[in-house]
Order: sequence, then C-alpha cells, then structure tokens
Amino acid sequence: MNKFNGYRCSICGTEYLPGQVTYTCPKDGGNLDVVLDYDAIKKKFHPEDIKSRTDFSLWRYLPLLPVNEPAGSSTPLHAAGWTPVFALPRLAEKLGLKHLWLKDESRNPTASFKDRASALVVTRARELKSEIVVTASTGNAGAALAGMAAAVGQKAVIFAPKSAPQAKVAQLLIFGAKVILVDGTYDDAFDLTVKASNEFGWYCRNTGYNPFTLEGKKTAAFEIWEWWIEAHRDWHKKDGELDSHTPLTIFVSVGDGNIISGIHKGFKDLLALGWIPNMPRIIGVQAEGSAAIANAFHAGNETIQPVSATTIADSISVDLPRDGIRAVRAATHTDGTYITVSDDEIIKAIAELGTMGIFAEPAGAAAYAGLVKGASLGVVGSEAPVLVMNTGSGLKDVRAALQAVQSAPVIEPTLEAVKKVL
Ligand SMILES: *Cc1c(COP(=O)(O)O)cnc(C)c1O
Ligand SMILES: [Zn+2]
Repeated sequence: MNKFNGYRCSICGTEYLPGQVTYTCPKDGGNLDVVLDYDAIKKKFHPEDIKSRTDFSLWRYLPLLPVNEPAGSSTPLHAAGWTPVFALPRLAEKLGLKHLWLKDESRNPTASFKDRASALVVTRARELKSEIVVTASTGNAGAALAGMAAAVGQKAVIFAPKSAPQAKVAQLLIFGAKVILVDGTYDDAFDLTVKASNEFGWYCRNTGYNPFTLEGKKTAAFEIWEWWIEAHRDWHKKDGELDSHTPLTIFVSVGDGNIISGIHKGFKDLLALGWIPNMPRIIGVQAEGSAAIANAFHAGNETIQPVSATTIADSISVDLPRDGIRAVRAATHTDGTYITVSDDEIIKAIAELGTMGIFAEPAGAAAYAGLVKGASLGVVGSEAPVLVMNTGSGLKDVRAALQAVQSAPVIEPTLEAVKKVL
C-alpha cells in the first residue's frame, strides 16, 4: 500500500510529491508536513489491527509511517519507542491533582525521546541509499542518530557544541560516529551542518529541517492513544464520574519545538482517521532563559524572535527554534498554552521526580516543573487527567543532577560514625 502522498508546507500550504523536495519548502523555507493517504489507511486498517500487533516498539505503527519496514530485526533501531507510563500518586496528591502519569522516554535505546526521530531518519536514509547521515545536536539527537545508525551499519557524522555534557559526547564516540565539536552554540552547529550536507551530499537529520523527524516523534502520540484507552477502562472501574470525553492534558518540554509538533501531528493523524473523538490539550514548557516559542505564543503570533539562550537544560537551549511555528500551533490548536520555568525550578523538579524512582535530565524534568507551576496557576484543574513527558535520562547529565541533592557524607568505617550521620 502506498500511504505516503508527499509533503505540505506549514507556511504557504504548497504540496510536493515525495521525490520533489527533501527538507524544507523551496518558496519560503517553511517546515514540511508529511501528507499521508488517510483514506487508503482507513480502508485497510482499523484501530484494532494496530492495537493487536505484537511488535512492542514504534514500528507497531508502521501503517501510519511514511517509510517501509527497516531491514533486519532485533537491533536497537527496532527497539525505539513503546516506553512505559507510570502513575505518580504521591506527586499528584502534593499538586492537588486526581490523575497524574509520566511517560518515561529515558527508556529508549539511547536514553532519550530523540531515538524515535532518528529511527525514522536512518530508515529513510537507507531507502534513499545515502551513504552518510549528519546532524547538529545539543547531544541527544546526535546520540540517537549515532546509536540508530550504528545499529544497522549506517555511517553518521555529528556536529555538537563543545559545551555538550560529557556523557552525551561519550555516547556519540562509543557509537562510532564521526564527532565534530563546534566552538560555538547549537545554532552555529545547525547552520554548519546544513552547509556541510549541501557541500558533501550527506543526508541531513537536523531537527526542524528534515520532515521525517516529526514522523518519528508522532509515534509517542500513538502510544499515548493506546495507553489512554486502557487507562480509561481503569478509571471507570474506580470512579465513574469522569466522562470519557474529558481531554487528557499533556506537558512536554520545548527547545526547537519538534517534539511538541510531533506529538500534535500524531494526534492530528488519529483525528483525521476518526480514531479519536477530540484532541488532548498540549502544554509546552520552556526554560525562562530559552523561551523564544513561549514568547511568540504569549504575544499571540507565530513570529519567532531569536533569544540568547542560557539554561541548565542544555537539550532545550536554543537561540532560534527551528520548528517554532508548528510548536506555537500545537498549543493554540489544542486549547493548550506555554509555561516557562527557571533553572531552580528545573533542578527542584529533578529531585521531586527522583522521589518517584524517575531520573530525568534537566530538559526532561522541565516538563514536570511546568506542571508544578501550571497547577499553582490554575492552568490545569484538579480533575484534569495529566500526562507529563520525561524526554531524557538523568544519567545524561550527572553534573546537573548533583545540583539537585545534598552530597553524601563520608565517614570512618565504624558504627559510631554511622550513628552520628543518621
Ligand atoms: C531535544 C529534547 C527536547 C526538546 O525537543 P525539541 O524538539 O527541540 O523541542 C526536550 N528534552 C530532551 C531531553 C531533548 O533531548
Ligand atoms: Zn512554503
């Protein structure tokens, strides 16, 4: 079945055939949305066909993806996605919420949400017979590309700012990518990557540039959809008062704006297929020091003004977000909003999530910090069912994690000394 019709520009609406363009709209540089043949998909598949698949990875959604099944099996690339959702009852009580869950993307093969995008891009690169895939990255996108590429024997080149946390750089190197550290910001690395890919004919994965990253990221929405149907069944057993049309509220951290746009796209696909009755609310969380998209949202327009980004949350530290327009729409089109949080609030959120057995990197914990603020501001009501995304593992940035806790005491190996510190 050919389900991939082409692309539509998110700014001017021009449509392109799959072979006509590769990255952005030639007219205005707008990000391209992949256009699927919903009628063909609807004719061939029912929700039950998806839900009964035994492939517990993002590849269970292959009927809704614009690629063919990747060759091989049982590699990390085949294991991306299908992350767990945990209930957070103690934190819910603290925030005065009745229903709170967290979807833990740190469980992906390279420990961040980015594996979803990279799995799709590497699969696409192999379809295009590209020898080398390249990306700019603050760390996670590169680690994901390097890991997914290594899994299937694809060559990868990664440009990252030299300030990237050490664990992320270690991942890039261990996965055998060609790693080039740029003496500059993520934005500098981004522009350099585009130039290099044009010069050398490499396939460029850059976030908010390559349309396939969004298609990978949307699979999180499909998983939320499947989980939500199950969660609803449980609710009705416990308290029948919540009606089945109460929309879910999703909190997600935002840097370039591609994850939030991807989640939005996934739900738009489901709505177009008639598989969901309504949209969830999508709430974006940015760091105060890197808030270009939140600024545009609150100014009531889609004009993204660059900032000079500074935040401890390196994965969402972006001067000029590359997917800002669609990221603003993810909130405006779903009755959502944008919340900004300080680095102190992010660090506190790392510690709070830790008390539930969840270890988030700063950018991952930012979403929860946004919920804490949103709950206190009344952005979400106490009855609202809330799902927070943790987008990356705390092991990615141990230095930041140690700022969230007091250091451990060092003692003589005697019981006396133990008694003193207890
Ligand atoms: C990339 C990333 C984000 C933000 O995603 P964008 O698409 O840039 O908005 C959030 N958290 C983590 C851990 C990330 O790696
Ligand atoms: Zn256009």
